[in-house]
Amino acid sequence: MNEKTKEELAQTFKGEITDAQEDIQKASRDTSLFKRIPSLVVYPTNTKDVSALVKVVRTAKENDNSISVTARSGGTDMSGGPLTTSIVASFTKHMNHIIEVGDDYAVTEPGVYYRDFEKETLKKNILLPSYPASREICAMGGIVANNSGGERTLKYGKTERYVEELEVVLSDGSVTTLKALAPEELEEKKKLNTLEGEIYEKMDNLLTKNEKLIEERRPKVSKNSAGYALWSVRDIKTNTFNLAKLICGSQGTLALWTKAKLGLVHPKAHRAMLVIFLDKLDILPDIVKRILKQEPESFESYDDKTFTFATRFLLDLLKQMGLAKAIHLAIEFIPEVEEVLVGGVPKMILMAEFAEDTIEEADAKAVAARDALADLHLSTTIEKNESESEKYWIVRRESFALLRKSLHGYYASPFIDDFVVQPETYPKFLPELNAILDQYKDHFIYTIAGHIGNGNFHIIPLMNIAEPENRKVILELAPKVYDLVIRYGGTTTGEHNDGIIRTPYIPQLFGKEMEELFKQTKQIFDPMNIFNPGKKVGGTFDDIKRDMLRSNE
Ligand SMILES: Cc1cc2nc3c(=O)[nH]c(=O)nc-3n(C[C@H](O)[C@H](O)[C@H](O)COP(=O)(O)OP(=O)(O)OC[C@H]3O[C@@H](n4cnc5c(N)ncnc54)[C@H](O)[C@@H]3O)c2cc1C
Repeated sequence: MNEKTKEELAQTFKGEITDAQEDIQKASRDTSLFKRIPSLVVYPTNTKDVSALVKVVRTAKENDNSISVTARSGGTDMSGGPLTTSIVASFTKHMNHIIEVGDDYAVTEPGVYYRDFEKETLKKNILLPSYPASREICAMGGIVANNSGGERTLKYGKTERYVEELEVVLSDGSVTTLKALAPEELEEKKKLNTLEGEIYEKMDNLLTKNEKLIEERRPKVSKNSAGYALWSVRDIKTNTFNLAKLICGSQGTLALWTKAKLGLVHPKAHRAMLVIFLDKLDILPDIVKRILKQEPESFESYDDKTFTFATRFLLDLLKQMGLAKAIHLAIEFIPEVEEVLVGGVPKMILMAEFAEDTIEEADAKAVAARDALADLHLSTTIEKNESESEKYWIVRRESFALLRKSLHGYYASPFIDDFVVQPETYPKFLPELNAILDQYKDHFIYTIAGHIGNGNFHIIPLMNIAEPENRKVILELAPKVYDLVIRYGGTTTGEHNDGIIRTPYIPQLFGKEMEELFKQTKQIFDPMNIFNPGKKVGGTFDDIKRDMLRSNE
């Protein structure tokens, strides 16, 4: 970036503008397989700053096509979403205010960490139920921009369901609020002689003209973060048109959001968990079917290798929690340790949690679920409250973090980390998946954890990516897994999004015609390609090869 652009930016932008190595290095990484060194990091203080930034970039773009803006909030993305070689706009430093908490909603800036957001909303006994497993380290910016999901998504859906309004900065630097519009309000918007008016006019046309195709290609699984959610803009039930639903999940490629109104839910007060220790995976589909009938709030799983890592790093995990809690948890783990000593580590641990208004109701649900499995003669246990089930949640929530701090010389490599298939396909899908993974077993160790009730698997191989052979495996194995997932009617990403790693698979997943609609959507919102280029649209396999890490740092 040239000095003139920096000077222009300094005149209108009130936050810090820096190319200090510490800031640049931090912004060059997320939790993906990639590294991109940005030329500049800026810390906006408010929406006006974001608008000023976009205006300067837009002008500079006329002479320098390489300039762009990529948003960053918590920086925990697993797909390379917040990485760029140009400007990073980092939100957690200043734009980190919760503006309002109402009775069933909250208004927030993007740089608020989820852990702080939840503390405030719980004071009114409400919460965003789509929080991800990275809840302690991620921020609202990425939760909305990735359309994140988590352990309660089975019952409550993903973030898109809760995004009511978004204040956004559009690609000409103008600021507007996107929300549900009645037909006559939409018509008024379309008359505006501004970029906003143009966007409404063109998006309405695009959605109307291609209604059938969009409906046909709408993912047929319970969660998806791939592509642009064109199928979510119109709400037939309320007869409204809401572009905020499209910005949600778009990874900062269509607009930058600066304020969000999120609908929140009153969580049930009590939980009981049925834990199933599974030795044979062939009965998994049957178990999942029966458990889903009992309507758990969460239905999660992790495998034997995750359990082994957890025990290896148990002390580290417990240390982070303080002495009193560590002792309590260590005692809680004793029956499981005994079980393992007698019967060995189960192949998979399934956690079905039931939430109700009273402890008795929650327990009754867990018991009913256990009874529904009686004829399968499984090893099970019921954890009667959240304090008892906490140990399972710690292992499940920390499963990726455990991998990241695990074996020296290995890197936890997310590239087949988030696909989704319908649970009904498990009997045929899982053996085929295992056969593919087995072909590469000399190249990595892998664990499986995930949202078993949604058919959403997190497979994050531990590999030595300093070895060129292993990096080749990434590009060879991913298309095989994605071919299989697509053949079974699934999606490549349920919540982690496309980023650098999955954007090139979008045509394979949605087909060429739909890819064309995604390109048109990008063109309508961001004709100069100012926002986060190469994600969602225009990303290539060469990007993956070029920017993949070459050491296990
Ligand atoms: C241990 C671990 C567990 C995880 N578990 C889950 C999980 O259960 N579910 C899940 O969904 N994800 C999970 N993730 C991935 C990631 O943490 C989430 O997607 C999270 O919501 C990202 O939030 P962030 O603030 O860190 O986003 P960032 O990494 O900062 O950004 C993510 C994307 O959002 C864009 N963005 C950020 N702010 C804005 C903004 N203001 N306007 C426009 N675009 C913006 C960025 O450009 C980028 O493309 C996990 C990651 C880790 C490390």
